[in-house]
Amino acid sequence: MRIDAQQRQIRSYYRALFRTWGPQHWWPAQSRFEVIVGAYLTQNTAWTNVEKALANVRAARLLSLNGIRRAPLAELERLIRPAGYFRQKARRLKIFIAYLDEKYAGSLAKLFASPTEQLREELLRLHGIGPETADSILLYAGNHPVFVVDAYTRRILARHGILPERTEYDEIRKLFERALEPAARSVADLREPRNESLAAGSRGAAHSPSPMSTAKRTAVARVYNEMHGLIVGVGKNYCKKSKARCDECPLQKFLAKAN
Ligand code: SF4
Repeated sequence: MRIDAQQRQIRSYYRALFRTWGPQHWWPAQSRFEVIVGAYLTQNTAWTNVEKALANVRAARLLSLNGIRRAPLAELERLIRPAGYFRQKARRLKIFIAYLDEKYAGSLAKLFASPTEQLREELLRLHGIGPETADSILLYAGNHPVFVVDAYTRRILARHGILPERTEYDEIRKLFERALEPAARSVADLREPRNESLAAGSRGAAHSPSPMSTAKRTAVARVYNEMHGLIVGVGKNYCKKSKARCDECPLQKFLAKAN
């Protein structure tokens, strides 16, 4: 498929999903730091497990920069155990804080004031941060305009014949960013659908509104934010690894054209 056709296809998916399900309210968090902790914890596990781990850290009154900074490693490991790989993840969180303290005097405001590409490279150099985690932090905590590619994105692209599942992360990211930028300039593509027009009984994978999901952000970041959440909705509810429930999926009409 040609690049311009791929981009048109992705814009059509965004429009169809956003008009069907409306805002998805990713990322569900009270603060930027909670987004960062969640981005680490969600590696290789389901979000429901992350919620349990975050609830433990919150109940221990440690869900803050200073809280994680002063928490003994063993205590942090115990609290985040429900998220799996808890030893690895606890160490990685400590490494992030050490980096923040050393390079940005412990200030998230200073960290996120850095240029996007520079900050992305720095995050990718940290132990335990791959592109999906780096981009989740940049987009959802920092309001930087980068699209987050996950396994659902790859699966949908592959099943629709747009790109093979093993395509390089950055190739997929750039495809989505170029495809969705025009949507960020279109008032119609940003306007929330009226509630009564939302599909009955389904909102994708929508969370309840939270301080982070309703935070002020640029139009581009907002569209990237929504598209990632909408893709999670498709992946979780329809485009499962073991079985695609195409008959009920809002992207079914595009599949027919792709094949
Ligand atoms: S479930 Fe079917 S229609 Fe929906 S995204 Fe997956 S392959 Fe496409």
